[in-house]
Amino acid sequence: MSAPKPAVQGRYEGRTVAITGAAQGLGLAMATRFAAEGATLALVDVNDACLTEAAEAVRKEHGATVLATTVDVTDSGQVAGWIGAVEAATGSVDVLVNNAGIIRDNRVENITDEDWDAVIDVSLKGAFLCARAVLPGMRCRRYGRIISFSSMSWRGNFGQANYVAAKAGIVGLTRTLALEGAKDGITANAIAPGLIDTPMLASMNDAARDLLTRKIPMRRTGDPGDIAEGAAFLASEAAGYISGIVLDIDGGISIGSSIR
Ligand code: NAD
Repeated sequence: MSAPKPAVQGRYEGRTVAITGAAQGLGLAMATRFAAEGATLALVDVNDACLTEAAEAVRKEHGATVLATTVDVTDSGQVAGWIGAVEAATGSVDVLVNNAGIIRDNRVENITDEDWDAVIDVSLKGAFLCARAVLPGMRCRRYGRIISFSSMSWRGNFGQANYVAAKAGIVGLTRTLALEGAKDGITANAIAPGLIDTPMLASMNDAARDLLTRKIPMRRTGDPGDIAEGAAFLASEAAGYISGIVLDIDGGISIGSSIR
């Protein structure tokens, strides 16, 4: 475990931060962090019960305004309706965090059409739909931050062709959003987490997890708070000259092979 990071008081006061896949894991950790820094939150997930509980917990802990809505990010109409409703209620979406993602791992010859489409649709199409929905408002206000979730796997990973394609796609989408948003004060960046302790990681068996943890130069898996720290920086006004990057937050695993 790493030490909890102190929130920057009031950094997101007056800002609306929209986060997808916010019911648990990294999405919930980021929601908690942005709320601690004064943000108004617009959270979505497909897991209604879990989202309601998460939103209530964040409201209670930080007294934040939290709009929680059940939205499937693969559905263009639901996404457009969500962003429109948030803009009507709060005046703006200043920060979009494209966090929703799923895995359906298999070797290429065993990936079904459904498992290919599901993984690409949630991670990549979902990020595109949400970005497309927030851009007009951000351009109009000449301010915006779009953060999308890639993965250390984007460089290629055994048994994850669908996930890798989606996460590499996020890098291309992010770099293009960065170019298209630049003159209007909109930045777009990606975060590529390594192995982070969330319900997604819990699906991995202990042996595989131990093997991978030994490959991490820092010899530990990451905490959701490590990711929230990076997101809170990239989404801040201080990061206004940073756009189009992929921020690896992974304990050094992406550096490459180590002989130790
Ligand atoms: P998680 O499985 O714990 O949470 C993902 C959330 O997304 C869930 O609450 C789920 O209900 C929601 N979701 C799924 N489909 C959705 C849809 N169609 N619409 C809206 N919400 C939907 O995952 P996590 O570990 O918190 O991962 C968050 C992001 O980080 C994902 O994009 C993931 O690929 C990426 N990531 C995670 C790790 C890790 O080690 N945990 C590593 C690399 C990348």
